[in-house]
Amino acid sequence: MNFLEERILKDGVIREGNVLKVDSFLNHQMDVSLLDKIGEEFHRRFSHKKITKILTIEASGIAIAYAVARCFGVPMVFAKKAKSINIEGDVYTAEVESFTHKNKNQVIVSKKFLNCDDHVLIIDDFLANGCALQGLISISESAGATVEGIGIAIEKGFQYGGKSIRNLGYDLQSLAIVESMDHVSQSICFRNNEI
Ligand code: 5GP
Repeated sequence: MNFLEERILKDGVIREGNVLKVDSFLNHQMDVSLLDKIGEEFHRRFSHKKITKILTIEASGIAIAYAVARCFGVPMVFAKKAKSINIEGDVYTAEVESFTHKNKNQVIVSKKFLNCDDHVLIIDDFLANGCALQGLISISESAGATVEGIGIAIEKGFQYGGKSIRNLGYDLQSLAIVESMDHVSQSICFRNNEI
């Protein structure tokens, strides 16, 4: 069991509706030492690739992506949620349905910060059905950038996002893959996922 799986077992809370709350250490209060370790682990896994930019989505991907970007020594860019009326010309856009809030957001990245010379590592906190990732992939494609890999802190392996993104041929690596979880017994099973 790796450091993130251990922490999920210790402090994660399972909510009805397939939601895993990790807000005591990852996406509300943040354990910065844990974030550093996550950054180092993604660097270890993707350092053989040429990465020029880390790309994530507002809001909960930002801290993890920052930690990863520090290790690679490259800029981090996050897709911003935008009201469609505010969208100005020089942006790439994608529509992303939020798993947790059940609404749709238009997300944008300025054309100034992503282009065809970029080799992108996409980072996010969770992978459920893959909408957030599809949006980030689509923005990278619009920019003509190369997606070198995708790093996810926690993948819920019983939802279809991971399978569909891997089927598209992306190098998707998740630090913890939850195979099953039960909110009544608060039990979690992880997929054997050591690299
Ligand atoms: P997807 O787009 O893959 O369906 O969902 C991924 C996004 O939804 C992530 O960016 C994350 O913010 C949020 N999310 C999905 N499932 C969970 C969950 O179980 N717990 C938390 N805290 N966030 C989740």
